[in-house]
Amino acid sequence: MNKNFNEIFDYVKDLTIIDSHEHLPYCEDFREKNTDALREYLIHYFSSDLISAGLNPEDFQKAINHELPIMDRWDIVEPFWNNARYTGYGRDLDISVKAIYNIDKISKNTIEELDHAFQRSLKPGHFKRVLKDMSKIEVCLLDSNLDCDPYFFKSVYRLDRFIYPQSYSDIKQVEEDSGIRICSMDDWLEACEMMLDKAFESGAVALKSGLAYDRTLKYERTIRNEAEVCFNQIFNSLHLPNWDGSPIVMGKEFQDYMMHFILRMANKRNPTFQFHTGLQEGNGNYIHNSDPSLLSNLFLEYPDVDFDIFHIGYPYQHVLSALAKNFPNVYIDMCWAHIISPYACVNALNEWIDSVPLNKIIAFGGDYMIIDAVYGHQYLARTDISKSLAHKVEEGVFDIDEAKRIAKMLFYGNPKRIFKLDND
Ligand SMILES: [Zn+2]
Repeated sequence: MNKNFNEIFDYVKDLTIIDSHEHLPYCEDFREKNTDALREYLIHYFSSDLISAGLNPEDFQKAINHELPIMDRWDIVEPFWNNARYTGYGRDLDISVKAIYNIDKISKNTIEELDHAFQRSLKPGHFKRVLKDMSKIEVCLLDSNLDCDPYFFKSVYRLDRFIYPQSYSDIKQVEEDSGIRICSMDDWLEACEMMLDKAFESGAVALKSGLAYDRTLKYERTIRNEAEVCFNQIFNSLHLPNWDGSPIVMGKEFQDYMMHFILRMANKRNPTFQFHTGLQEGNGNYIHNSDPSLLSNLFLEYPDVDFDIFHIGYPYQHVLSALAKNFPNVYIDMCWAHIISPYACVNALNEWIDSVPLNKIIAFGGDYMIIDAVYGHQYLARTDISKSLAHKVEEGVFDIDEAKRIAKMLFYGNPKRIFKLDND
């Protein structure tokens, strides 16, 4: 096993790869400079593990307040950090600081030294160093910014605000972006279609929906009249003063109608559609809302849309295995997954190689807002994929050369084809 792993990893560690999903600043200049290492590394993910480990929310707020001395803040988080250090999120950060700053483990002994090195990294050139030179990422698909720096990114566009507007200011923003005054549901549909076409004209390569954070992935067929009754509710809050940010809650009939409307448009244009499924970032949500099998009616009804199913559907990776095996238009995307659970990724790939055609799997998407942590994530991804492929070599399913060919396919050939990146 070790010998096979070493030989495969030796090849995989140098592969140029495609990153299917990121939330990084859309250009390096836009990076937050008024920060420090502790605050930056707790923007998301590991912070959720610390809170899950028992760190109370007020102490967490103190820990990310970079006006306070870093050592005092380290003392607050240390016991929780040590309990969470070996999760994928925790390991990612330790791997990243070792490779980028040559610092062994984030701890009381290293946090100040780490912050000094981190402050120096805020100078221009750090994105290139981490993404291109160290992580060998040819391109990242960036969630929701059409103005992203093309040297690093291609954009992915979200239409979720058309399905799930949350306040009247969302309606105003749509008017501003589309130039269409929203006086009826017809105007809303027209604005939605216009924004979709604008996004593709501006170079977006895929669509994305993250609504499994807010609602179930089950989008029923509803009729226009029911949807319009819900939509018309928004006009009831028109008289409220500007400073009243009261949320609006659109009825499910409207939300479902809009998802089908968008998929019908997508079906004509044949883009890839990324769907968040599985674990929701943060603390406290309904995991059953994000079971990828809830999307089955959409897979059937929109056969010309390629559905890129995020995060291995964790913890529904076995369900996703059946879906990708069953539907020609369903793909498995391992973005975020290698830091949710490296072990689950190795096991899932062992299972998928037995059940799912190899052209259906994308190996990596960093899914980070933290530039440094992308390094650790791609390193874990390369390790996980190599472990699983070495296991199959050991079982006699294929030889080492074939394992290398498959690795390149999962990290590069598949995302390039599934996101139609050759069409540029
Ligand atoms: Zn994401």
